[in-house]
Amino acid sequence: QASTSRASATNADELLGGLLTAAGFDRGSCRSRYQSSQYYKYSPYAPSSYLQHKLREYEARHRKCAPGTPLYAKSTEQLRSGRSTEAMECNYLVWLPFEGLGNRMLSLLSTFVYALLTGRVVLVHSPRAADDFAGLFCEPFPNTTWVLPPDFPVANLSRLGWSPDQAYRNLLAKRKIANDPAKAKATDDVGSVPPYVFVNVAHEHRFMDTLFFCSNDQGVLARVNWLLVYSDLYFVPSLYAVPAFRVELRRLFPAKESAAHLLARYLFHPSNSVWGMVTRYYHSYLAQATRRVGVQIRMFRFASIAVDDMYGQILACSKQEHVLPEIDGGDGEARTGNNLSRNTTAILIASLYADYYERIRSRYYEHAARGGERIGVFQPSHEERQATGKPAHDQKALAEIYLLSFSDELVTSGMSTFGYVSSSLAGLRPAMLLPAHGHRVPKTPCVRAVSMEPCNLKPPRAACKGGDPVDKDGEDDLARHVKACEDERTGIKLF
Ligand code: GDP
Repeated sequence: QASTSRASATNADELLGGLLTAAGFDRGSCRSRYQSSQYYKYSPYAPSSYLQHKLREYEARHRKCAPGTPLYAKSTEQLRSGRSTEAMECNYLVWLPFEGLGNRMLSLLSTFVYALLTGRVVLVHSPRAADDFAGLFCEPFPNTTWVLPPDFPVANLSRLGWSPDQAYRNLLAKRKIANDPAKAKATDDVGSVPPYVFVNVAHEHRFMDTLFFCSNDQGVLARVNWLLVYSDLYFVPSLYAVPAFRVELRRLFPAKESAAHLLARYLFHPSNSVWGMVTRYYHSYLAQATRRVGVQIRMFRFASIAVDDMYGQILACSKQEHVLPEIDGGDGEARTGNNLSRNTTAILIASLYADYYERIRSRYYEHAARGGERIGVFQPSHEERQATGKPAHDQKALAEIYLLSFSDELVTSGMSTFGYVSSSLAGLRPAMLLPAHGHRVPKTPCVRAVSMEPCNLKPPRAACKGGDPVDKDGEDDLARHVKACEDERTGIKLF
């Protein structure tokens, strides 16, 4: 659990300690923005005043550069002309959606951090507008939009794939862009960068623009007007590899494990229709309980095990970390009247399948909980299979991420971005079920996460040219900020 002070729901302020701006929003158009603070159990970290300042600065920049403004028109005109760029007042990141909802939220959040670090503006490619990713959320910035207009000049944004010609690594290979600082300086030819560059920081290493995380390359990319960002990862930990970013990140997030926690609460506000689902469910099933426990179970194909084995793992984890109420060894004689415990626990299950709900519910039906505690077990949906892009499906997924985030305690599945987002939003360190690599039930059922931060499951593995940032000092410095993830040893996370 977070050791820093916790604000209880009763004294939580609706603008989350200055994270959100009061100005420029119509309350009715986005109820979650003003109501979510009443539902979170923990708010362990207040935003630094520097972060607040940078967010207000970002909001002003976004307003100035957003679609519909003269500066946006100027930048897209430049792009349309295909000419190399002259320095522009507004520089952009176009975020491209990839993979499931949790992946999307984390890659967008990372892209936003990168925008804070580089003075850019983030626009979201959401081709089907209201029916799509952007339709799940409210606009996060006041009096403007983050949705990329459909007439954006780069064609087929949804079908660029892993490695289009315009990918940074391909441009480097074809010498259409130079990342050698000496050469770039010698020519000092600003015209030598293309108007847009596609950067792939997604999990597939073969196509990953790993040099993206190097200072020299950042120096070159800083001159490119438009960057198209393709990722399914939480790549914030890797941004700490760039020394200049690291200095700024420390100021933004004095508590390193607060980055995703604060920015998820800043950026993501479920739309009124999703918020309706969240609040209806919460008040019907969860609100009356004295304790709420969220259990998120993800069965990955690469680590699948039998339902009973997974159920056994959940119980073993729960016992180890004291999460779910234990059952009484006795005959479970019903307690009545004054004997009835005042404590009630609501267990919220999130899973694509109903099996775990059935088993856990039966457990407390067939046995009394120790101490006579009353237990409710609930699962809002069981969709059976992932159907990202189908609005009704995505709405349920988002609603469940938020319902989990209101928990007092969480059990999540390792390597699941769905679970990562829930924990970060909740502001708590979950008991994380370890993946069954090789389809073998892990000996240790779960571990307590070292921080509420998501794992960057596939950090880049390239060494930077020009000695940076892998000089000895840099490495030591980096090691102070990140460690191997509990659930994926090759991943890294902030702590
Ligand atoms: P990850 O694959 O676990 O990293 O999480 P993602 O969110 O990126 O992708 C999984 C997708 O499967 C989700 O976005 C949902 O569409 C669906 N899904 C997985 N688990 C659940 C669940 O517990 N509830 C609901 N409603 N959908 C789920």
